[in-house]
Amino acid sequence: MAEATEVASGLLAWFVLHARDLPWRHSRDAYGIWVSEVMLQQTQVQTVIPYWHRWMRQLPTIGDLANAPEEQLLKLWEGLGYYSRARNLQKAARVVTDTHGGNVPSTIADLLELPGVGPYTAGAIASLAYNQPEPLVDGNVARVLTRLRMIEGDPREPETKATLWSIATQLIKATGKLHSVPSTPLARGRFSILNQALMELGATVCTSRAPSCDQCPIRKSCQAFASGAVERFPALAPRVKATRLRYAVVVLRRSGKWFLRQRGAGDVNHGLWEFPQLELRLRPANPVRQVAEWLDITPKSLHPLPRVRHAITRYQITLEVFQASVDKTPVALGDGQWLTTREIEALALTSAHRKIALNAIEPVNIQTD
Ligand code: SF4
Repeated sequence: MAEATEVASGLLAWFVLHARDLPWRHSRDAYGIWVSEVMLQQTQVQTVIPYWHRWMRQLPTIGDLANAPEEQLLKLWEGLGYYSRARNLQKAARVVTDTHGGNVPSTIADLLELPGVGPYTAGAIASLAYNQPEPLVDGNVARVLTRLRMIEGDPREPETKATLWSIATQLIKATGKLHSVPSTPLARGRFSILNQALMELGATVCTSRAPSCDQCPIRKSCQAFASGAVERFPALAPRVKATRLRYAVVVLRRSGKWFLRQRGAGDVNHGLWEFPQLELRLRPANPVRQVAEWLDITPKSLHPLPRVRHAITRYQITLEVFQASVDKTPVALGDGQWLTTREIEALALTSAHRKIALNAIEPVNIQTD
């Protein structure tokens, strides 16, 4: 425990001096902190900042989120991916409004009842917003703790996860016993500082590649550093090989309008808009004939646009993009709408299709206030 106390007090002192000044760290509003945590789960801090400001401007209270139309929600989330997170936030906001009088709960038990809230998010809201003595472990914290204690297993495995949560709990307990703690405008109380310090250390010092151990406040306690074995931790099992997929996307124009379709219920990213797309065989390399047959137009009327590549979970996706002018809607496309540039600006598109829109029909802004 003496060592845990040293680690905790080192982290608190370090955070007060070195923490990044992030907008949600000035918030004492549990809702704003919660939104930032959900946005940060897949995305870098610098990307999240403008999204968070825009969200909080348009939906400043949990009641505003509960009542927001789906199109507004998707537009505010456009580009962050994992749209189910935005939808879960809204479902949870409705529960908070209906059963907690609009106040975000402060206990882990109540928080875990909310849609989309798992142990990490519950720990983050309880400790960061309410300074409750609750631990949390995310990817950054897992990296710090596996190195600190030379934990051999893969942090994604349940047994290793349990070990890491137990170390995080020891640090919270040690923090509770500190006689004096520093204060900062960037956190509300000792438990908030401790958890944010662990996450911040993982994000800025104890990084996956080339960690800056010479600047680390807990170097003296770090077992991996003392053993010269930092690179061995965390022991992540190799990821499964990515599956390659290839699609053709067609940007169709008719009388100054563009044809888009909305993803239906049950689809990944349902509710989002996109240009028509067709899954291609990986061979042959030239998809023009396949696309022309699909749309029942001549191959010559298809003009290639820059190819777009992106990755989603374990898929590596290549989009072969074509543009064509037509005078009627191809039968194969089914439901969809012919839309003006301005109408497209107001819709939520998947990131890849927003990129295509930018290439094909400028000006279409990625973010609108
Ligand atoms: S000494 Fe290095 S490896 Fe250990 S916690 Fe600090 S930054 Fe990470």
